[in-house]
Amino acid sequence: MSRIAYVNGRYLPYAQAAVHVEDRGFQFADAVYEVVAVVGGRLVDAEGHLVRLERSLDELRILRPMSRTALAMVLAETVRRNRVQTGHIYLQVSRGAARREFAFPAGVSPTVVAIARNVDMTKADASARRGVAAISQPDIRWGRCDIKTVGLLAAALAKQAAKEAGAYEAWLVDRDGFVTEGSSSNAWIVTADGALVTRPLGHAILGGITRSAVFELARQEGLRLEERPFTLTEALAAREAFVTSTSSYVMPVTSIDGKPVGNGGPGLVAGRLRAIYEAHSASHGAGRPDWQAQFLAP
Ligand code: PMP
Repeated sequence: MSRIAYVNGRYLPYAQAAVHVEDRGFQFADAVYEVVAVVGGRLVDAEGHLVRLERSLDELRILRPMSRTALAMVLAETVRRNRVQTGHIYLQVSRGAARREFAFPAGVSPTVVAIARNVDMTKADASARRGVAAISQPDIRWGRCDIKTVGLLAAALAKQAAKEAGAYEAWLVDRDGFVTEGSSSNAWIVTADGALVTRPLGHAILGGITRSAVFELARQEGLRLEERPFTLTEALAAREAFVTSTSSYVMPVTSIDGKPVGNGGPGLVAGRLRAIYEAHSASHGAGRPDWQAQFLAP
């Protein structure tokens, strides 16, 4: 079956799907994106992703291309046309195409692209049972990591370093020695006394949709939650570590820079949260947070 992409109002076969050479997404990374999980042919936490997309657009003063409802329909239709059951949909909105000039061009319309694909989750499930390795890398990204832009070069370099080290993820460390997040995930630890710790929202991290969902589910489970920065030393002394993201769900991290976390195996808390999160995604977002409230700060 040929894959279909949505490009600026049209559903096109891949061979015909293209954007302009002077698109600002291509030239300046002047674009934002979302990746939404698909389970049972339906989007997971669609509202959270669309609220975050609007926030990213507004922060950069890129015009909202259409209403939230219309975008949700485009996503659902792209999923349907590609017959995605379990997988992802990728949505990108750039400021538009215009003669190359740094300042914003007048009178351009945003470029909207959506592509969807099936993903075999068996590999991720096996990784979750075993646990994965992380390495640390300096966080060399820009100062507004809360905006989900396609400016992902620093993240790609960190992920490549992880891959070359045989690791799954790179944990990024700020100048003060605190972990910000993973190159494409949020970072968590479970301390020796059982507190679940993750960095608070702010300009230094992306407010992950999975982070918010897991935070809410953990709260409902009665787990003790602390939103504060933590160091690599603290992570290595922790009982457990894990990452959350749309594509990894809840993924136990069992070593950092080759040193074991806890007993070196996947932790009970991460395992429990993964199971609860899987139930959440199968229900497409039951017990969800108030999404509008997740992204107002800062
Ligand atoms: N942080 C970064 C830097 C990311 O790229 C991602 C994944 N896009 C996340 C966190 C996790 O966000 P989400 O749970 O919304 O996928």
